[in-house]
Amino acid sequence: MKKHNFYAGPSILSEFTIKNTADAVLNFAGTGLSLMEISHRSKEFTAVIEEAKALVKELLEVPAGYDVLFLGGGASMQFCMVPYNLLNKKAAYLETGTWAVNAIKEAKLFGEVDVVASSKEANFSYIPKGYTVPDDVDYFHFTSNNTIYGTEMRFDPDVKVPLVADMSSDIFSRPIDVSKYDVIYAGAQKNLAPAGVTIVIVKEDALGHVNRAIPTMLDYRTHVKKGSMFNTPPCLPIYAALQTLKYYKELGGIKEMEKRDLEKAAILYDAIDASKIFVGTAAPEDRSIMNVCFVMREEYKDLESEFIEFATSQGMVGIKGHRSVGGFRASIYNAMPKSSVEALVATMKEFEKKH
Ligand SMILES: *Cc1c(COP(=O)(O)O)cnc(C)c1O
Repeated sequence: MKKHNFYAGPSILSEFTIKNTADAVLNFAGTGLSLMEISHRSKEFTAVIEEAKALVKELLEVPAGYDVLFLGGGASMQFCMVPYNLLNKKAAYLETGTWAVNAIKEAKLFGEVDVVASSKEANFSYIPKGYTVPDDVDYFHFTSNNTIYGTEMRFDPDVKVPLVADMSSDIFSRPIDVSKYDVIYAGAQKNLAPAGVTIVIVKEDALGHVNRAIPTMLDYRTHVKKGSMFNTPPCLPIYAALQTLKYYKELGGIKEMEKRDLEKAAILYDAIDASKIFVGTAAPEDRSIMNVCFVMREEYKDLESEFIEFATSQGMVGIKGHRSVGGFRASIYNAMPKSSVEALVATMKEFEKKH
C-alpha cells in the first residue's frame, strides 16, 4: 500500500530528490565513485555546493551583501551561534513555542534577553500580537513556524531593528524579504534534505561587531571566508538539498510552492472545520500551512487512539501529535502531494461516518 508520510521531521522528500541522491550514492557525476567517498574539495563536489548556494540565492532573491552557508549542528546549533556572533548587550525574542524557548535559553548565556511577548500561558496555541520591540536591541528573533504547535508567522515583521529568524520548518514556503534580516537559519530536515545540514543566510555587515572571542567553528566569518568548506561539510545532505532546490525551480519557484502549500492546507483545515468530531488546536488566524494540529472534541476524546489505528491501516504514517499538544499533527511540507492530503481527509470522513 502507498504510504502517506505526515512525519514532522525528518519528513517527506520529493521522489526527484530521493532518486537523484540514491543514484549519486551509487555513481556520483559519472566519476565511478559514490557521493559518500569522494573528496569535498573535488571539482565535482565543489560544483554541487556552488550550485546549491546560487539556487538558494535565486529562489529566495537574496540581495548582495549576504552569504549562504551550509553548516552542521542543526538549527539547535544556531540557537547559540546567533547570539555568539550578534548579541552585544541585549536582544529581543518572541516566545512562541519549544524551539523559541530553547533559543532564548542559549541567548541568555551571552547577554540580556527581552522576551517581548509569549503565548506560553495558552500552550503556544497562538502568535502574540501588539508587542513592542525596543529600538536598542541588537536584533529581534522569532520562529516563523512553530512545528510542534502548528502556528506560523507568514510575514516578515516590521520592526526598527534587524530580524533573525528560525525558519526551519517553513523556509521555501513563501517569498521572504531577506533584506530585513541579519540571519535566517533553517535545519534541512523539514523542507529540504535529510538531517545533517543547516542553511544559514547571513548579512556580512552584521558580523564582527561583538566584543568577545568566538571559537573558530562557531564564528560565521570562518564559514563565510571559506565558503562553507573550512571543515568537511555534510556532503550527502547538501547534494540532496541541491536536488530539492532544482525541483522547486523546475516547478515554478517559491511563489508556486506557496500556492500549492496554501491549497493543501485549505483542504485539510476545511475538513477539520466541517467535522463534528475533530477540532483544530491553533488560533485560526495563526494556523500553519506546514503543520496542521488537531484533536478530537471533548466528547470523542476516547476515540483518538482508534483513529490513529484506522489511519495507519489506510497507509497514513506520522500523524500522532507531539506529546505537548496531543491528538494529531499532519505535517504537509512542500514535498507532500495534494493526493496524500486528500487521502487523509477521506480517512477522517470515513472514520467520522462510523461514529
Ligand atoms: C526541528 C526544528 C528545530 C530543531 O532542529 P535540529 O536540526 O534538530 O536542531 C528548531 N527549530 C524549528 C522551528 C524546528 O522545526
